[in-house]
Amino acid sequence: MIRDQETLTILLDTIGRFVRERCVPAEAVAADTDRIPDDIVAEMRRMGLFGFAIPQEYGGMGLTLEEEVLVNFELSQCSPVFRSISGTNNGIGSMGIVIDGTEEQKRKYLPRLASGELIGSFALTEPGSGSDAASLTTNARRDGDHYLINGTKRFITNAPEAGIFTLMARTDPASKGASGVTAFIVERDSPGLTLGPIDKKMGQRGGHTSDVIFQDVKVPAANIIGGKEGMGFKTAMKVLDKARLNIAAVCVGVSERMLQDALRYALDRRQFGQRIGDFQLVQAMLADCRTEIFAARSMTLEAARKHDAGERIGLEASCCKYFAAEMCGRVADRAVQIHGGAGYMAEYGIERFYRDVRLFRIYEGTSQIQQLVIARNMIKAAGG
Ligand SMILES: Cc1cc2nc3c(=O)[nH]c(=O)nc-3n(C[C@H](O)[C@H](O)[C@H](O)COP(=O)(O)OP(=O)(O)OC[C@H]3O[C@@H](n4cnc5c(N)ncnc54)[C@H](O)[C@@H]3O)c2cc1C
Repeated sequence: MIRDQETLTILLDTIGRFVRERCVPAEAVAADTDRIPDDIVAEMRRMGLFGFAIPQEYGGMGLTLEEEVLVNFELSQCSPVFRSISGTNNGIGSMGIVIDGTEEQKRKYLPRLASGELIGSFALTEPGSGSDAASLTTNARRDGDHYLINGTKRFITNAPEAGIFTLMARTDPASKGASGVTAFIVERDSPGLTLGPIDKKMGQRGGHTSDVIFQDVKVPAANIIGGKEGMGFKTAMKVLDKARLNIAAVCVGVSERMLQDALRYALDRRQFGQRIGDFQLVQAMLADCRTEIFAARSMTLEAARKHDAGERIGLEASCCKYFAAEMCGRVADRAVQIHGGAGYMAEYGIERFYRDVRLFRIYEGTSQIQQLVIARNMIKAAGG
């Protein structure tokens, strides 16, 4: 739902200019130094980009999901790592609190997440539990008005920068599945909480992941999201529905950028006495990219509108994430192909995108897991 088209247009134009003028020129520096320049992060804070999905009464912009998707289309037309630093605050690192948090939790944490003063991370994955997230073994044992948490979380985005974690831990040891899982807010400076070394990744350099290790970490019972044990897995899945749609939007934005670069190259580069963009086989690659981006963009917007109308979008979010992530991989591959040998060389930047976008088919549920969610929803709806 678009609430005020004029304000939204100004916001999208401002973000578009910021991406072109500030982020695109800094892409190589961010990758080479494995750090987003501090002045760019500060500018993102000033622009409110850490809190566009957080409700206005807690200091954010309170965008609808359709508006959020449109913002992500713009914000992602550069190396996706720039969005990633604020991505957890607008998504998996805050949404548990936004969707299911108590009023006190919202008032305590959301304003600082919205301003970017605090970074929020989402800690679900473990060394032994990835796609099968409900089998997680990090445990939280009640001890008076506190819990003692033990376990290790793996590949946690923005963990090295995080001030708080939305942590999924098992409070009911008798239950091996989703029903025994509780979501906690854990502060970074809690004694017993340590981080592993920063992971060396294939791409998205400048964005960081690491293990988060809990050894007898004492967390107040008041930090259970929503205040009730056993609801954590449901919270995590609600968070992921929204997050998957936003990843689909990011895939659309990055694909737009890769296609722009490929088109520009196709119009500059000459072989056999003419522009390579005049060859029909190259045109076919360009046309396939344009068509698939259009499809992903349309389905993502439609699912967002459905969410804003109050409907559940579990199936649609998986369809969008699955299609858009796979589409983004195909666009990256064609963009490299159109660049020929230059596409394989770091200087042209397209090889960096090729590595960066590989992640989209893996995190927040692999493509195979999206297929399973889609099919399971279909079978359930058919009464099976
Ligand atoms: C850069 C990065 C950032 C991440 N950030 C976070 C984060 O912030 N928070 C967080 O909690 N997690 C995070 N993750 C973890 C991510 O969500 C998991 O890596 C992902 O869900 C896959 O889990 P896995 O790595 O254990 O793979 P596995 O589950 O071991 O899967 C391996 C392969 O088996 C396939 N497979 C598994 N089960 C099935 C099945 N039932 N049917 C068919 N195929 C199957 C998978 O599709 C995949 O191809 C991040 C990962 C990366 C790489």
